[in-house]
Amino acid sequence: MRLEGKHAIVTGGGRGIGREIGRRFAAEGCRVLLADIDGERAEAAAAEIGTGGVHACTADVGLPEGVRHLFETARACFGGRLDILINNAGIAHHGAFLDLTLEDWERVLRNNLTSAFLCAQAAARIMAAQGGGRIVNIGSISGQRGSYGRTAYGVTKAGIHQMTRIMAVELGPRGIAVNAIAPGPIDTGITSMGPDQERRYLERIPLGRFGLAPDVAGAALFLASDEAGYLTGSVVNVDGGFDAAGLIFSYTELTTVKSDVRDPSRSD
Ligand code: NDP
Repeated sequence: MRLEGKHAIVTGGGRGIGREIGRRFAAEGCRVLLADIDGERAEAAAAEIGTGGVHACTADVGLPEGVRHLFETARACFGGRLDILINNAGIAHHGAFLDLTLEDWERVLRNNLTSAFLCAQAAARIMAAQGGGRIVNIGSISGQRGSYGRTAYGVTKAGIHQMTRIMAVELGPRGIAVNAIAPGPIDTGITSMGPDQERRYLERIPLGRFGLAPDVAGAALFLASDEAGYLTGSVVNVDGGFDAAGLIFSYTELTTVKSDVRDPSRSD
């Protein structure tokens, strides 16, 4: 029961990674408020998790009024205490730079970055007044690497990582630790990848499989728990080694090149 007596908000908690974080936190004794733009989805997730301490809220956290409503609901559920914020809400977007419309750019920024800023600011005000708290922002490996079609999405995730560092510096003296998780490709059950794209991804993942929502939830639990008491300003990759393997070679190609370099006397 690593989060016994704690109170957490998880945005985008109606499905996927957010729902799994809610489930994991509840199993560790945490009271959780799952917020999602689709309120029925959040209600269903809370019902499925099935402990009395999980609540649901309909909120578009990309809008100030949605965030106001979320924090009013949190106050009603938790009596004013907030220990943990998981900034997880986000939308995917793929599209070539030259085709990217201003409308799409602004939509992705609002849902992925403005949402995290608004929620973190509201949470940090409560946490500063009560003497501390934990904020975990969900970024992405797309925020570390350049790659095709990720202008809007990648920029928002790079922004999440940088906001994490700056928040850690400014909020550390107030007892608030801020870290980010950068997931690699996570199979949340709704994948739009074709078999060829799946194969290409897998070739670049040293652990040889896609991540699963519990892989990310485990990292979020660690960062929210007392065990991570001296961590702040970190971006933790949960990616099976995808980032470490690099961009230039597929992992299969990389191992071949590595063994050639290590053993120059090879005759084959
Ligand atoms: P899902 O789409 O499965 O879940 C995200 C949930 O957040 C959805 O219910 C979504 O609703 C909701 N949401 C989106 N925008 C808002 C908003 N403005 N206010 C409230 N709720 C909102 O995504 P994942 O679980 O796969 O991803 C969760 C996070 O992890 C995201 O930030 C994503 O960028 C990040 N991530 C995911 C990876 C992956 O491979 N799955 C890899 C790297 C990072 P709706 O669907 O209606 O928009």
